[in-house]
Amino acid sequence: MSRGYNFSAGPSMLPESVLRRAQEELLEWGGERASVLEVSHRGKAFVALDDKLEADLRRLLNVPSDYSVLFLQGGATQHFAQIPLNIAGPDDSADYLITGHWANKAHAEAKTLVKTHVVASGEAGRFTSVPDPAQWQLTPGAAYLHVTSNETIQGVELDALPAVGDVPVVADMSSNILSRPLDVTRYGIIYAGAQKNMGAAGLTLLVIRNDLLARKPRPLPNILTYAAHAKEKSLLNTPPGFAFYITALVLEWIDAQGGLVAMERLNRAKADMLYAAIDGSNGYYKNPVDVRYRSRMNVPFTLHDAALDEAFLKESREAGLLALKGHKAVGGMRASIYNAMPIEGVRALVGFMAEFAKKHG
Ligand SMILES: *Cc1c(COP(=O)(O)O)cnc(C)c1O
Repeated sequence: MSRGYNFSAGPSMLPESVLRRAQEELLEWGGERASVLEVSHRGKAFVALDDKLEADLRRLLNVPSDYSVLFLQGGATQHFAQIPLNIAGPDDSADYLITGHWANKAHAEAKTLVKTHVVASGEAGRFTSVPDPAQWQLTPGAAYLHVTSNETIQGVELDALPAVGDVPVVADMSSNILSRPLDVTRYGIIYAGAQKNMGAAGLTLLVIRNDLLARKPRPLPNILTYAAHAKEKSLLNTPPGFAFYITALVLEWIDAQGGLVAMERLNRAKADMLYAAIDGSNGYYKNPVDVRYRSRMNVPFTLHDAALDEAFLKESREAGLLALKGHKAVGGMRASIYNAMPIEGVRALVGFMAEFAKKHG
């Protein structure tokens, strides 16, 4: 059997060249005569990998020198809680923009740790758009404003951050990090689980401005303190070494493709092709999201008759188009088309969709 095109939302498709390289190097890595899975994180080779991972990430994202880059664990979910613990006290206010499932999760976790305020919510519109920035009710003096740059389940992307004044913006970028160039200086914290667009599960990226790193709003155990991890260059305790390694290979791959400018061009072309197929299907397929905020990474769509869903999933899988089942919160289908999805994969999907519509009517 050969590999299919994997449209999974996460963990998701990796570039084939990355997997092949990992396969080649699995037994002996970095001149160590041992696997990357077997060597000490205090050894020269692994420390060099840690340094390279940080340097490559800084270069790709153009991270200014007054920010720290941390490679942590716990997934984005752990940092829903750990971020308020590190940068806000229990009596401080923190603002949350609610754009969908993940923003809700981040907000729910922060509620018990800090006084949260919802600046706006897309819930009344069933999270098919981003609330108009002119209507956001920012809290004066808030410790931070939390946003979700891409809602992986609803397929809504905050395409550009509006002006919000001086409040540090904390952004969960789990599902669109590295998909296009980014102005890091607009943010106080950027964080993302690696398993969607960056590498392997187990590694969580956190880019934090150093003045936020220096905030000490409450006593915390060392292991939960970002400043402690920064001091040890993300090697405070044993890191998930294989996830570091895979992520480093993915960053090299992005570089070889032409960096984030090339990623954006590719991602735009893929998304345009898929949305055009949906919109041009005379209602056979539908995506409910406000065109302006449609995600380039996660494209949910429904069939005109939900009774066809099962056949669609079965036949697409047989055609080598994997994991198209939508999240249960929105139903239907979802195609996640992250960086590693080649345009041929999207072409195969739209071809299949047209054939399916013809066959099933
Ligand atoms: C997947 C996802 C999460 C959760 O990530 P974990 O690594 O499972 O904790 C959080 N936010 C967004 C936007 C996601 O896509």
